[in-house]
Amino acid sequence: MRTVRQLLDEKGHDIESIGPDDSVFDAIQKMADANIGSLMVVEDDRPVGIFTERDYARSVILKGKSSPTTPVREIMTTRVVYVKPEQTVEQCMAIMTDKRIRHLPVLRDEKLIGMISIGDLVKSIIADQKFTIEQLEQFIHG
Ligand code: AMP
Repeated sequence: MRTVRQLLDEKGHDIESIGPDDSVFDAIQKMADANIGSLMVVEDDRPVGIFTERDYARSVILKGKSSPTTPVREIMTTRVVYVKPEQTVEQCMAIMTDKRIRHLPVLRDEKLIGMISIGDLVKSIIADQKFTIEQLEQFIHG
């Protein structure tokens, strides 16, 4: 099973972020531009929270708040769950399923080094399974 480190080497280490005092509107714009569903909230180079599309749907739209005047700080999740580069894809999937989250920032020595989404994990698991099936087919057909 692949590790988070291998996954990041394949998909890249980019992390899109926003400041806590930026507006929710700017956060949504940034997510749309980058075609992603989450942003790390970073203040003075330190991660202070995470903001995802689900936060927007549930804590802004449903509550009738205005996205240009609501700061990200008011909506973000502050108790962020992280993973380490040596953890496996399987462990990440278990964490996401257990906590009902779809994004896991990766920390090494207290520094953010990447972001894993549920889409990245599914892609990796399917690639592993395809490889196993091909090996078995080769074995069966001699
Ligand atoms: P998601 O399914 O990733 O859109 O997130 C669902 C909820 O969990 C939202 O409130 C997010 O802010 C929160 N969330 C997402 N990822 C994390 C994470 N790694 N740690 C803590 N909360 C998270």
